[in-house]
Amino acid sequence: MDLTLVIPLYNEAESLPELKAWIDASLKDFTYELIFVDDGSTDGSWDVIREMADQAGHDGKTVTPGPTGGLVHGIRFRRNYGKSAALFEGFAAAKGDIVITMDADLQDSPEEIPEMVRMIREDGYDLVSGWKKHRKDNALTKNLPSKLYNWTARKVTGIHLHDMNCGLKAYRAEVVKNIEVYGEMHRYIPYLAKNAGFSKIGEKPVHHQKRKFGVSKFGMDRFVHGFLDLMSLWFLSRFGGKPMHFFGSSGILMFLVGFVMTICIVAIKLIHQTHGLPYRAVTDQPIFYLALLTVVLGVMLFLAGFLGEMIARSSTERNHYQIKESI
Ligand code: UDP
Ligand code: MG
Repeated sequence: MDLTLVIPLYNEAESLPELKAWIDASLKDFTYELIFVDDGSTDGSWDVIREMADQAGHDGKTVTPGPTGGLVHGIRFRRNYGKSAALFEGFAAAKGDIVITMDADLQDSPEEIPEMVRMIREDGYDLVSGWKKHRKDNALTKNLPSKLYNWTARKVTGIHLHDMNCGLKAYRAEVVKNIEVYGEMHRYIPYLAKNAGFSKIGEKPVHHQKRKFGVSKFGMDRFVHGFLDLMSLWFLSRFGGKPMHFFGSSGILMFLVGFVMTICIVAIKLIHQTHGLPYRAVTDQPIFYLALLTVVLGVMLFLAGFLGEMIARSSTERNHYQIKESI
């Protein structure tokens, strides 16, 4: 099969029939399957998916792709887990050579897919991300913060994408089978891919539509959470397997600073004492407390390093490597 389209959705019943028709009209030259992942919808989205599956065939036999469009599969969560969880299950079930993700709300255009597929097949990209160049969302609450967020993401990840979190993306199947999207990490799939060794990441400007039905599922907290997740990913990718390198070096630094300060305080006092000069009690000096603080912090950082090492050692992932080839 050429393509698998993974479509996470949460309460998008009204959009689905139109989306399916639009996809089928845009992908006439491909064999493909649609995997709708219903993330605990409460608005009857699942009934719509079931109906589409009955029409299109979902057992891989009833209907061959062609004039009727792709096969339709559905995965239904018992409750709302979030977009990352939906993508994770969709990726696990995908059978196509190239996997496409897109939102279900008709904001992403399936007409962009053939060109993205060409970029993977012919230009050798591992991943092609959409770029909503002319974004049709609220300027103040989405577009502006999004620019800032993408700038930060570019600096931290070193991946030069204008729109890291675009829902419309195409992947070589290997990529999605070798990364694990969890929490709210769907925003950083290109970074996950890069950390897994898939470094040829491209971008294609895509058309973006206004939301036609329903409401956006993400509020302003996306930026706060997104930033924190970015920090975690950065930390994990640099020090995940060797936490002591981070905590140990900062711990030593802190400890040394505190130690030198302590020596100075004591030395100054002793010198003054032996020469009969006036001196202050050690505990009267603000710097004493600073020295105390840095020594304690240094020791704590060190302990965090040891604990981190113990956690990293017992992780089942500790010897998980991406092997590209072996002969
Ligand atoms: N979505 C989901 N689970 C959630 C929230 C959202 O599967 O908990 C889906 C949603 O139905 C849509 C896509 O993720 O297909 C993107 O969501 P939305 O359009 O609300 O995001 P925005 O376009 O506002 O960034
Ligand atoms: Mg949307």
